[in-house]
Amino acid sequence: DDRAVSAARQPDDAAEASLRPQTLADFTGQAASRENLGIFIQAARARAEALDHVLLHGPPGLGKTTLAQIVARELGVGFRATSGPVIAKAGDLAAILTNLQPRDVLFIDEIHRLQPAIEEVLYPAMEDFQLDLIIGSGPAARSVRIDLPPFTLVGATTRAGLLATPLRDRFGIPLRLVFYTPEELLQIIRRGARLLAFALTEDGAAEIARRSRGTPRIAGRLLRRVRDIAAVQGAHPVDRAVADAALLRLEVDRLGLDAMDRRYLRRIAEHHDGGPVGVETLAAGLAEARDTLEDVVEPYLIQEGLVLRTSRGRMLGEPGWRHLGLKPPRAPMP
Ligand code: ADP
Repeated sequence: DDRAVSAARQPDDAAEASLRPQTLADFTGQAASRENLGIFIQAARARAEALDHVLLHGPPGLGKTTLAQIVARELGVGFRATSGPVIAKAGDLAAILTNLQPRDVLFIDEIHRLQPAIEEVLYPAMEDFQLDLIIGSGPAARSVRIDLPPFTLVGATTRAGLLATPLRDRFGIPLRLVFYTPEELLQIIRRGARLLAFALTEDGAAEIARRSRGTPRIAGRLLRRVRDIAAVQGAHPVDRAVADAALLRLEVDRLGLDAMDRRYLRRIAEHHDGGPVGVETLAAGLAEARDTLEDVVEPYLIQEGLVLRTSRGRMLGEPGWRHLGLKPPRAPMP
């Protein structure tokens, strides 16, 4: 999945670390989450206690990892990162937990992909800072209890609904991240251009912002790719026309949709008369994983009204038909 506007991580995203905001004040957008975090961080600092556990949920590329790092920095504590699928055994998690310093932040990305047996270890750790481990097996097995330093778990997931309820209930601070507005993305792109020493005009930046699918990760990636294309062309500074041409070359259309998005929309229009069609059927027809559709492709299309999620399946919305330049076979959903 190497499309330019995919929100999923890609190899060249190592470069994005250089654009990561380092403080809450430097973090643009997500006003509600930022405000809440600021207050709770201040309170935890004042009491010299570990911050309550934080659950960040929302589509990929919106800043969950970035916020987790910022939380640790603002608390003045250590930061340790892992992810759900990486923790294979209870012992792996135990090793991480017993090595934390008091009040450290442990970040678990894709926390919905933890195995149930490992979730069981996490519950008492989150609730009472205790670890219940079974040592040995068979009749010789015995259970030991280990005290842990108080710590803050920051969990990230693309959809809170994927989380087991007992796990979700153990997060005192659940925060939902939302797509960024074009104005917020404009600020992020201006800042990125400044950091990259990239001469980009205001309307050039606005063009990239409009076409970043509401996602800072995509904004950063498009910024770097437009810069590369412009450099080869000797375009300086980069204005709206240059940015537009570069984005079209990257197959990012005027709404910020890429080939995958358009394939998805066309599939519903042409194979299913505009729907409703179940997500499983769509995934099979497009030869894509259902999770990819639900986590990466659909959220933005739904937010923009191009696609509607109904109880009977996905339907193309009026803006979806218009964007494809097609006529709906009957009165479309609004
Ligand atoms: P997630 O963990 O939600 O997938 P990340 O935290 O890895 O997303 O963010 C992806 C990239 O987007 C980061 O490296 C950072 O450069 C950029 N980014 C995310 N949120 C912001 C923001 N609010 N302001 C500026 N850049 C951001």
